[in-house]
Amino acid sequence: MSPTDIDTAAKDLLAYIDASPTPYHAVRETARRLTEHGYRELDEREPWSLQPGDRVFITRGDTSIAAFHLGTTPVDRAGFRLVGSHTDSPNLRLKPNAPVAKHGYHQLGVEVYGGVLLSTWMDRDLSLAGRVVVLSGGRPVPHLVDFQRPLLRVPNLAIHLNRTVNTDGLKLNAQDHMVPVLGLESAGPAELRSLLVRELARANVRAEAGDLLGYDLALYDTQPSTRSGAQGEFLHAPRLDNLASCYSGLSALLAAGKAGETTRGVVLYDHEEIGSRSAQGAAGTFLRDCLQRLVLGHSDGRADAYHRAIRHSFLVSADMAHAVHPNYSSLHEPRHQPLMGGGPVIKSNVNQSYATDGETWAHFAALCREAGVTPQHFVTRTDLGCGSTIGPITAAELGIRTVDVGSPMLSMHSIREMAAASDVVAMISVLQRFFT
Ligand code: ZN
Repeated sequence: MSPTDIDTAAKDLLAYIDASPTPYHAVRETARRLTEHGYRELDEREPWSLQPGDRVFITRGDTSIAAFHLGTTPVDRAGFRLVGSHTDSPNLRLKPNAPVAKHGYHQLGVEVYGGVLLSTWMDRDLSLAGRVVVLSGGRPVPHLVDFQRPLLRVPNLAIHLNRTVNTDGLKLNAQDHMVPVLGLESAGPAELRSLLVRELARANVRAEAGDLLGYDLALYDTQPSTRSGAQGEFLHAPRLDNLASCYSGLSALLAAGKAGETTRGVVLYDHEEIGSRSAQGAAGTFLRDCLQRLVLGHSDGRADAYHRAIRHSFLVSADMAHAVHPNYSSLHEPRHQPLMGGGPVIKSNVNQSYATDGETWAHFAALCREAGVTPQHFVTRTDLGCGSTIGPITAAELGIRTVDVGSPMLSMHSIREMAAASDVVAMISVLQRFFT
């Protein structure tokens, strides 16, 4: 692959990440790109009418999205080729009664969402984004907000007051130590509702503070994503886990061109980081509901059409993988040490933390060969626990053949993660083979 491809993809991925501080924004940005490429939105509350070759997408809960390019052959005969990823990343989120006043400070109480590497959230220039639900004409209407400027900070404790921090490690109590500071009482009010009303006005939404009935708001780092490294080989960005995989699946779908025989699809779920058990998570009904309705509109209509479609189908579960860390290499299995810039990683675990088996591994390896890419392998040390993905959950829910793969990265679940630019392009090219 040429350096130009890598530059273009890296720049576009970083723009996608910066446009997506929360799953709400990731879904909006994904929908925007799909619409630009001729995809139309289907409403789950309406009947669907479908034709071969149609490009459609569906959202649920404003945080999960699935897009499909219908094939020329009915799905009961050709099945689905699906790429699955997740829109959510670990972060800090506002509690319902968020405002706290303490020692002259305005603060906002937060909950910890998912497996946050808490220490990395200290001393960052944090902003606020998400969804605000406003009462309008007697009914609740959701609006996205993004303050886009430094607003909050979780200040570190000075080393003079914590002398053993470097040798004993930073010990953080999530309730006591992670409460971000919003302002000084002496500087004036810092009423959350007024701030939200002003922010909504910036987006041309008129609302009174009393009309803000609910919200889902998360903190994020305002530092823009960037390239780094002696040759620009690295990407430094938040939420690479797993927006880099969302981006790769989406880009492969959009680049796959005109309809093939098989129906292609990308499903980007929320709530992976907290176990996927929700209405729009991988353990919920979202994908099955979409697939069943696509089968209804694009098959011979027999009662067993859905079941035949699933047996013809294949899912690539794309989620980021642990590259070997030069300073901690002993934590990797000696024969399975994925290299940054080394290409896609096939993830295996016999206890089904990953859904990969010999056959699905071989399928993906064959796609890599066609794309001129050599896959790497990851298996965790036998004496260490293993992370998981939407792969085994979706496989169990649907009974679909599944392989777990991902691009190698460092600093997973840090507020600022790290990956290699060339791996993005390699993953897109393999997923594009999958779709063609
Ligand atoms: Zn992930």
